[in-house]
Amino acid sequence: MAVPWIGLRDGDSMPQLGFGVWQIDNADCPRLVGEALRLGYRSIDTAQGYGNEEGVGRAIAESGIARSQLFVTSKLRNAAHARDLALEAFDRTMADLGLEVLDLLLIHWPVPEQDLYVEAWQTLIELQRERRIRSIGVSNFDPAHIDRLIAETGVVPAVNQIELHPGFQQRDKRAYHKRQDIQLQSWSPLGPGNGGAEWWAQYGAQTGQSLLNDPAIVAIAARHGKTPAQIIIRWHIQEGLMLFPKSSHPERIAENFEVFDFALDAEDMYRIEALDDPRGRIGAKPDAWNLMF
Ligand code: NAD
Repeated sequence: MAVPWIGLRDGDSMPQLGFGVWQIDNADCPRLVGEALRLGYRSIDTAQGYGNEEGVGRAIAESGIARSQLFVTSKLRNAAHARDLALEAFDRTMADLGLEVLDLLLIHWPVPEQDLYVEAWQTLIELQRERRIRSIGVSNFDPAHIDRLIAETGVVPAVNQIELHPGFQQRDKRAYHKRQDIQLQSWSPLGPGNGGAEWWAQYGAQTGQSLLNDPAIVAIAARHGKTPAQIIIRWHIQEGLMLFPKSSHPERIAENFEVFDFALDAEDMYRIEALDDPRGRIGAKPDAWNLMF
């Protein structure tokens, strides 16, 4: 079964499931992103801060897939929020990706301390008006940051990409995004115990217990004849969230895409909902993260 494309508030649409490339080396992107595209993935989530846009661009160019069938997301670096730096960073992103028009650009983090995220947002609005970007959105923004963008520019982000997984379900934020018609995207969708969590641990964050070994997830997986990763990915899909699980292993890249031939029932969903832990965050708190990259 095909991956659904979900409509965004600006009239554009994007695949619900894609391939994330954080922590994939630039040199490995042509092979691994190429593999994902061969398997049928059509949405790629990268960022200037990942240092691999050039490799992603090469994979796209080599794939031969029609541009209209692909959806490419990138993110504006924390150190490039000022208008002139944002324009320069965007040009670099586009040169590296080898694209004329970007499908979606997100402000990677608000960095309230430098207080330039409204200026960054105004620059994204400008680039969208010039038709160099189709959709614009944010990442790691709390509702208060989004309220300020709307109050000062009148433009509502199409998406917000935040940490979200069964161990940290962000239920308190869901109603706000629904009300504003902002599509939520889940980062680190597989949750604690993976490469991303280890990266955050260097900044003092908890790595947590792997959800892939959680007894409830393992039991649901056994009942459906699926893997724990597939159960978690399916949970995001049925919750109406977008996601881009990352893997460097072709067999897992394939596994993470085979989630449209079964469905979780109400009891499965209820059991996974019970894994929510308001303290289950593995990454930084959005309003406190100010690493300049
Ligand atoms: P993830 O939840 O996708 O987990 C990736 C890790 O899980 C892999 O490194 C591997 O160790 C493991 N894994 C993947 N598939 C598996 C499988 N089938 N079986 C067993 N283990 C498996 O975490 P992530 O990479 O942190 O997040 C996904 C994407 O989200 C990123 O690549 C990036 O595109 C995006 N992201 C964005 C932000 C942001 O600030 N906006 C932050 C983190 C991640």
